Amino acid sequence: MSKIKVMSELLANKIAAGEVVEKCASVVKELVENAIDAGSTIIKVNLIDGGLTEISVIDNGSGMDKEDAVLAFSRHATSKIYKDDDLYFIETLGFRGEALASIASVSEVVLKTCQGDAGTLVHMKGGQVLEVSSCQAKKGTEITITNLFYNTPARLKYLKSESTELNNCLTFIEKLSLSRPDISFTLSNNERILVKSSGSNNLLKTIHEIYGLNVSSNMLEIKAMNDDFEISGFIAKPSVLKKNRNHFNTFVNGRVVKNIEINRAIDDAYYTYKHEGFYPIVVINIVTDPTLVDVNIHPTKQDIKLSKIDTLAKLLYDTIKDALYNNLLIPDAIAKPNTYSIFESEIKPVEKIEQTEFDFGSEGKIIHNEEFKKLKLYPVGQVHGTYIVAENEDGMFLLDQHAAHERINYEMITKEFQNREVSITEMIVPLSVELSPSDFNIFMESKYVLEELGFKVEEFGINTIIIKAHPTWLKMNYEGDNLKYIVDLIIKEGHTFSKDRFLDSLAKMTSCKMSVKANEHLSLNEIEKLLDDLVKCDNPYNCCHGRPSIIKFDNLELERMFKRVL
Ligand code: ZN
Ligand code: ZN
Repeated sequence: MSKIKVMSELLANKIAAGEVVEKCASVVKELVENAIDAGSTIIKVNLIDGGLTEISVIDNGSGMDKEDAVLAFSRHATSKIYKDDDLYFIETLGFRGEALASIASVSEVVLKTCQGDAGTLVHMKGGQVLEVSSCQAKKGTEITITNLFYNTPARLKYLKSESTELNNCLTFIEKLSLSRPDISFTLSNNERILVKSSGSNNLLKTIHEIYGLNVSSNMLEIKAMNDDFEISGFIAKPSVLKKNRNHFNTFVNGRVVKNIEINRAIDDAYYTYKHEGFYPIVVINIVTDPTLVDVNIHPTKQDIKLSKIDTLAKLLYDTIKDALYNNLLIPDAIAKPNTYSIFESEIKPVEKIEQTEFDFGSEGKIIHNEEFKKLKLYPVGQVHGTYIVAENEDGMFLLDQHAAHERINYEMITKEFQNREVSITEMIVPLSVELSPSDFNIFMESKYVLEELGFKVEEFGINTIIIKAHPTWLKMNYEGDNLKYIVDLIIKEGHTFSKDRFLDSLAKMTSCKMSVKANEHLSLNEIEKLLDDLVKCDNPYNCCHGRPSIIKFDNLELERMFKRVL
């Protein structure tokens, strides 16, 4: 009995409407997903010139009989979707058959497939069958695509450069490897292996195979659930960051997805733990009832819509934030001389992938925050009016005085914001600010936030506001500057204005302004107070912009540096 059934015309048209093969990576995606559906445990993708010259995918899956091998190329053939209703409950990776027919119509294809006995070879060009014959083959399927878009010049010109096409394929295979640690994936270009995962079914090991030791040894495990979602996976410590969001690897029911709300929740959770413009590496599996997933979005795209996204976003945010909070380390002076210099080149050399194994169960030396809060650091002195040297039984500490003070003030102000009772000071000279008509409008819409915080703001003539009082936490002598900044901030945020984000920006700005600067002399007493206040912070390790505030030199490291021990 044929495994592939012919769908109803109606459904076929529904799918065909959105179906596009636009780049080498979309060909790779279709072929690899077919291989996964065939139950393969080993999948090899071999590209020549980034796929522009040749794409071949070899798997060890179930293979096809002669009848299916031919039918696989007919339009509207699929083994996965039978009825209209099934469209709404698709748990598989995407759409089948349809895409293979599209690919075959714009390229030359050689398919060799075998279920264990005699193999079948199908050779097609431009959608025409050139040959169907028996052949020698191993169990599984090998499909080779050449001359992509040879008969559709309009599409051919949309193919990008070799390096862009290759990068898209790499990104896809990397994400797929992380979503399926149980399958071994290999991707090579011009016979050079660029990605290799072992199919060990150990996610951390797969992370190691994709990102290397530096990343895999700096991951924190997360696991949590609520009524509708179950999340699990690994998130990077802030010591290994990337310059873009491409390494947000998120999977919903095993499918690689992109979702703005999910990304925002991840970003927000890392908010005060990293520099702006830097993004973490995360690998997160989300499991949910498939009826909560909207599949009406184009099947070749990774965007999805989820019902109850708010509860998922909150679960992700809380879980990631807790994991970071509970496991943060003081940057280690020796192991990471430059915290942010660990970016890998875009295409990884194979040597990196073949690094020696390491113990995936091992834990770094973790100082939990609650322990840190009990630490006593003793002042030693100040260097260049900018850095503080301190010590305790465990070693030596180097602090950036501005970053440390800024962190203390940031947490103080944030707590102040949560405080219901605000004490207010009337300004001796009220501050008036003249605005453009449109800015004035935007400002007036959000003015209530300022009032809730304890500012007294009034209209004062045409497009002018006057500030008569402010909460006492606003540092004396800096009110003018701060207030102007606050007004600008409200106007800048405009209609996207959110009270929480505004308050956070405000806390950051104000704490920066009121903290000691570089080149400011501090007495030993002032240093001692700063050290005592810093250890009590919830996150003493970074300033509110993510810059490190304290670096530890372990006793043992000091001894090693001076070769007292080996
Ligand atoms: Zn600052
Ligand atoms: Zn800062």
